[in-house]
Amino acid sequence: MLVPTCTALIVAAGRGSRFGGPLPKQYALLNGQPVLRHTILACQAAPAISAIRVVIAQGDEAHYAAATRDLDLARPVLGGLSRQQSVLNGLEALTEVPPDFVAVHDAARPFVRPQDIAACLTAVAETGVDGAVLGIPLADTVKRTDPEGCVVETVPRVRLWRAQTPQVFRFATLLAAHRAAAPLAEAEATALTDDAAVAEKAGLKIVMVAGSEDNRKVTTAEDLARASIMETRTALGFDVHGFAAGNAVMLCGVAVPHSQTLAGHSDADVALHALTDAVLGTIGAGDIGKHFPPSDPQWRGVSSDRFLRRAVELLDARGGRIVQLDLTLVCEAPRIGPHREAMIASVAGIAGISPDRVSVKATTTEGLGFTGRREGIAAQAIATVEIPRS
Ligand code: MG
Repeated sequence: MLVPTCTALIVAAGRGSRFGGPLPKQYALLNGQPVLRHTILACQAAPAISAIRVVIAQGDEAHYAAATRDLDLARPVLGGLSRQQSVLNGLEALTEVPPDFVAVHDAARPFVRPQDIAACLTAVAETGVDGAVLGIPLADTVKRTDPEGCVVETVPRVRLWRAQTPQVFRFATLLAAHRAAAPLAEAEATALTDDAAVAEKAGLKIVMVAGSEDNRKVTTAEDLARASIMETRTALGFDVHGFAAGNAVMLCGVAVPHSQTLAGHSDADVALHALTDAVLGTIGAGDIGKHFPPSDPQWRGVSSDRFLRRAVELLDARGGRIVQLDLTLVCEAPRIGPHREAMIASVAGIAGISPDRVSVKATTTEGLGFTGRREGIAAQAIATVEIPRS
């Protein structure tokens, strides 16, 4: 008996407008490899899949080549302006050697399980339906709102599903449905967002197959971070500022009354500078002087919370998060204790973390050295972060 053929048509032509990174989401790195490569490898590992074809966006050829290096794949198909158009282009390309079945799959679902692909194929091949769609029965209560976000009604969730991919169809049937729907797509405000919708329009019979929450879509940088194996990194920051004539020093964004002030180009907040360098250190992003050169007049007198905020933004952009910030201030005076809680609250607010993740300590040098001679204040900081493993 001939084993039926099933081609995985992986749709990687989206521009990922919700992702916000420099790359479309399917080429972003998940544990050191592009998301698309993980998805291709998952399909290759599924015995139900006999061939793989990827649809990519025009202009992404170099990203695709890098993501698929060393993999034995047919040349990619160029997509269209909508997902529907991209799938149609992919199906048309498969007509060269038509498979019995096609499993249309999102490039951004790298965690698809072989048994779920097999279950969809079995449903179509053995039960006489036209298509099978992997999905999850809704567990949450569903509300419909008006444009202002006020609840209009509770939608009964009985028999409601969230559709995932793969969506498996008899190849010839899906091709015919897509060809029939193509002229309509141009007339509609938005093209159909999945293949089941195209098949529904054609009146085809589609069955839902219960899948796994593991098969989630990586749509945002946050999804990517959540999907990644995280590693812990720790880095040090150190800074010194000398005293000058004045009546308060800025420490951790808090103005502490003192017989002198700290001299510096910005507000000379030695504590925030050390913390900024520590956070930058965790992502190897250089130091505060690289990002905010003292030679640049725009940083004159500026409040140093700007610097720490920027370092945290850079960490955020990498999908990282701060686990702890630990600071030690070294000075004979002013006394830090009375201001400690305000400093912790201030740092937590600037870094966007809970105060229990911030530690502020103080010590003297027993009258020794420049801090002992009350010439200035030194600060040491250690930042501990979690960041997706690269
Ligand atoms: Mg400094």
